Amino acid sequence: MYGDVIIDISLEKLDKTFQYEIPEHLRETVQIGSRVVIPFGNGKRRITGYVVDMSTEPKIDAGRIKPILGVSKDSIAVESQLIALAAWIRRNYGCTMNQALKTVIPIKKKEAGKEKKTVTFLLTQEQARDELSTLLARKRHSQAKEKLLRTLMERSTLPWEDITGKMQIPATVIRDFEKNGWVRIDAERAYRNPVPMTLEKERPIVLSPAQSVAVSRITQDMEAGRLGTYLLYGVTGSGKTQVYMELIAKTLADGKSAIVLIPEIALTYQTLMRFYQRFGNQVSIMNSRMSPGERFDQYERAKKGDIRIMIGPRSALFTPFSDLGIIIIDEEHEPSYKSETVPRYHARETAIARAKMQGASVVLGSATPSVESFAKAKSGEYTLLTLPDRISGRTLPTCEIVDLRAELRQGNRSILSRRLQELMADRLQKKEQIMLFVNRRGLAGFVSCRACGHVIKCPHCDVSLSLHRGDVLRCHYCGYETRKPVVCPSCGSKYIGGFKAGTQKFEEVVRQTFPMARVLRMDTDTTRGKNGHQEILDAFRRGQADILIGTQMIVKGHDFPNVTLVGVLAADLSLNSSDFHSGERTFQLLTQAAGRAGRGDIPGNVVMQTYQPTHYSILAAKDQDYEAFYEEEIAYRELMDYPPAAHMLLILITSEKEEEADRCAKALADLIEDKAPQIRCLGPSDAVVAKVRDIYKKVIYCKHKDYEQLIEIKDRVAQTIQADAGFAKVMVWFDFDPMNQ
Ligand code: ADP
Ligand code: ZN
Ligand code: ZN
Repeated sequence: MYGDVIIDISLEKLDKTFQYEIPEHLRETVQIGSRVVIPFGNGKRRITGYVVDMSTEPKIDAGRIKPILGVSKDSIAVESQLIALAAWIRRNYGCTMNQALKTVIPIKKKEAGKEKKTVTFLLTQEQARDELSTLLARKRHSQAKEKLLRTLMERSTLPWEDITGKMQIPATVIRDFEKNGWVRIDAERAYRNPVPMTLEKERPIVLSPAQSVAVSRITQDMEAGRLGTYLLYGVTGSGKTQVYMELIAKTLADGKSAIVLIPEIALTYQTLMRFYQRFGNQVSIMNSRMSPGERFDQYERAKKGDIRIMIGPRSALFTPFSDLGIIIIDEEHEPSYKSETVPRYHARETAIARAKMQGASVVLGSATPSVESFAKAKSGEYTLLTLPDRISGRTLPTCEIVDLRAELRQGNRSILSRRLQELMADRLQKKEQIMLFVNRRGLAGFVSCRACGHVIKCPHCDVSLSLHRGDVLRCHYCGYETRKPVVCPSCGSKYIGGFKAGTQKFEEVVRQTFPMARVLRMDTDTTRGKNGHQEILDAFRRGQADILIGTQMIVKGHDFPNVTLVGVLAADLSLNSSDFHSGERTFQLLTQAAGRAGRGDIPGNVVMQTYQPTHYSILAAKDQDYEAFYEEEIAYRELMDYPPAAHMLLILITSEKEEEADRCAKALADLIEDKAPQIRCLGPSDAVVAKVRDIYKKVIYCKHKDYEQLIEIKDRVAQTIQADAGFAKVMVWFDFDPMNQ
């Protein structure tokens, strides 16, 4: 047995590993993540490193591989835990160990002008002499310690570089001195705090009964050492964030640290301020606009214990707290928690894995839980805690559905229904604000009938077919194809075709209908700049516009007290993406959009325009009835074997040569059918975007109830690709329980 050992994980190159033999007597002890003592260089030096991978094959002449000398007995470093987590990610999502390591361990990029540290001696001469004689009194005292102590007695400050360089004293000795309080280490470049401030304390709050139940249930479990995963289910404004803060306070009081994951888009100034108000400088944040250097600083501060709470999107999950007590995932249903690059890990599952390794609890919060999490809460795998009411007691807005098919029949061909126009005119006259929402997430050219609402779907997969060149309609799960019909197969109308309308088109219509209104538009085109996003929202909040039109960007986590009307322009747009999550996404988006109306003192109205007024996602969103939605949705998932009823593995095959991709995809599908007939295998077929930058993409979907069986398929496929020279020009990728087609 051999282990790949990495010497210093803060080096830029994680790929730089050295292979060592794992001797017989250490086989049981050494695992991925173990900190081991190894001979280095010409064999005289002994250093420590981390085992990042294990194999049975020597990479060089076996006779030249040196053995691992022992396992370091120091308390388990957080690095060991993160390396073990990387191994878990590799196994569960499919990638190389290196890709997994780069995901969990921040890489320090070489920065121009190396950081300089100085070591300052803090002891008086007298104290120093005492310590020196204690040291010398030991039978086998450390030469390095003696040397450093003597030098410091002569010169009270020393550059760090001189100690570790010229004097050849290991950094751990300096760190030990620091721990003893003998020296202070000053970095010339202070660690950057992204939000340096001190704020007045938040006023004390008395928890509502439902909040108290949730908090005490979780804290009692923590005290009893029962670690669990909790689903905190409560509408927006029901006090979830307050519960998180109570749990964090408890965690800090226990001497542990906390990670709070928030989707990047909801990481607003208002949310952050609440955490800063309560916890001050113990809080730090991470976001995608930070440079690698800034991120690294945050990680360092966490490792040193300078901060105790990390707030950020997905990647903040890997904050190196060695004393992690709780991981909170707000808006746990958000698809952005699934990584879109290899390894395609889900932050929720990965958080649960990390929490198990480190003895922490996990709290998932949402107003519209993912179907996966709610199913687990129902089965008892997670503990369900509910916050049924809004704190303010404010009633939910009045919601109505407008049937766009009827508008068409009655001669209104505008995308603004008569009812919506009427309410808009009323609000403009009252000087209240309006939000118009276009939910075009995952809008892949589906084909529908504007007279009856019928959507062309795959007969096997029950998802929308998407329109391709030559009027071909195709299913992206199974590859089924058919021609685009000329008239509606349901009602015979000729109003059938692709739906093409973006936010820009809607803006034109709104400006034509209400020429006096001040209109702002927010979509990817208008938010290109670094702060474009925030600027538009701020302008709207300040009342510089009457109407804000936008995509899902406008409905997340923003509070606009003067908005009393929300219009959803075509509620079914998101319903027709060719993805089995479309019903869930639609319900979530509509619920969020509705939540934007009437957050101030004035109750609001919500108008949902749709071609499918009887679809359960839309009906349930109108009534704000999550459980009604869930019952319908889970029945559909069970019927079609979609997650969580079964697990799904997407195998993506890419090549510059289409024949090679096809041949490989076919061979893999045959292999699965042959070796694992119990797996339901769909495809091969073309990927949604079948060709990107001259790379052809083919997909195979596998379904099975047991995740482990899919892991086996993944490993078998990976082995086959590696072993067969005929597939050298083909790349294969894996995606477990894929989120977007
Ligand atoms: P959520 O995270 O579910 O949207 P919040 O925790 O943000 O809910 O609570 C909504 C509002 O109610 C916030 O302004 C918050 O300060 C306030 N709030 C929460 N809990 C209480 C409480 N127990 N007493 C008074 N106000 C509260
Ligand atoms: Zn029709
Ligand atoms: Zn299909």
